[in-house]
Amino acid sequence: MNVELPLLPYDYDAMEPFIDQNTVSIHYNKHHKNYVDNANKILANLPEFNNFSLEELLKNINLIPLDKRISLKNNLGGHYNHLLFWYGLKQGTIIDGKIKDMIEYNFGSVNNFKEQFECSALSCFGSGWTWLIKTDNNELKISSTSNQDNPIMGKSIVEIYGYPIFGIDLWEHSYYLKYQNRRIDYIKSFWYIINWDEANNRLNN
Ligand code: MN
Repeated sequence: MNVELPLLPYDYDAMEPFIDQNTVSIHYNKHHKNYVDNANKILANLPEFNNFSLEELLKNINLIPLDKRISLKNNLGGHYNHLLFWYGLKQGTIIDGKIKDMIEYNFGSVNNFKEQFECSALSCFGSGWTWLIKTDNNELKISSTSNQDNPIMGKSIVEIYGYPIFGIDLWEHSYYLKYQNRRIDYIKSFWYIINWDEANNRLNN
């Protein structure tokens, strides 16, 4: 198995002023590319997993030999998380349809959901992500993960597991140039750039 850095579905300045052009460019060309390159180096020595899809491999990360497991989890997880992040961003979409209905059903209101999501993202200590996930019981929940873990990796890795609908990158590299220590301002800006159409697509998966 081999993974590739996909083309960004927009220009580097497409998330201005919420995420600046320079941050998107470095984040994509350096950080994401690094996860891809490192994951491929590890995967080259794991031919027995050639037939696994990206998501299958992440769900079964505990099958990976111990000496390669953590580095593959970090780098393949990093690749998958950034795929979700880039495709989860778009300016100008509106919350509508099934995602809106399910958020209202599971969190009481869109505003309640946003408050809980912000609170979880703000309290995530160090580097990690906060996700909206769909559980096996078809419920929406919020899950924060450390490092490059993802809720799809299952209960041996994360406390609240499920299928990720969208997530916010809370590593400082994703916001520090513009926001410095003001993580809350970055988190609040996220609501202006969520791709709600993509969220609806993933909900139907
Ligand atoms: Mn990142």
